[in-house]
Amino acid sequence: MGSCQGCGARLLPGKGWCRACRETPNIFVLTVMWLDADGREPQGRDKRRERTWGWFPSLELAETTVTSKDGHIYEDGYYNVALIEEIPWGSLAIPRAEHWYSASMLKPESDERALYDVKKIDKPEAFRSVCSFGMG
Ligand SMILES: [Zn+2]
Repeated sequence: MGSCQGCGARLLPGKGWCRACRETPNIFVLTVMWLDADGREPQGRDKRRERTWGWFPSLELAETTVTSKDGHIYEDGYYNVALIEEIPWGSLAIPRAEHWYSASMLKPESDERALYDVKKIDKPEAFRSVCSFGMG
C-alpha cells in the first residue's frame, strides 16, 4: 500500500496521487533569476538574484508573461532566466513539471525600453537535484 502525495489517502502500490488530488488543477508559478553563462548562481547569498512574480492558472498565460516583448519581468537585465513550475496543491508539494527559459537583452545600451530574445532551455545542470524554486 502506498499513500497519496497530496492528501495521504491510501492507494494501491505504484500510484502517487489519489483521483481527487490528481484532478485538482496545478498552479503555474513564475520565478526569474540571474545565472552566469554556465547556468550557475553567483556565489554569496547577497549576490544571488531570484524573485517569484506570481502564479497563473495555465501554462499558456504564464508563458505569455515570460515571452512578452517588453520583458518587464527581467528588470532591464537584472534577471536573465525564467522558470515556470507546475505545482499541485498541498504542503511542500513537489512541482510536477518545470519549464525553463533564457532571456537575452537585445538593446542593452538604448534609452528605449529593453527588448528580449527569449528561448526555451534545458534545466541548468547545476540545479539537477534542486526543485521548488518559486515556493521555497
Ligand atoms: Zn489525495
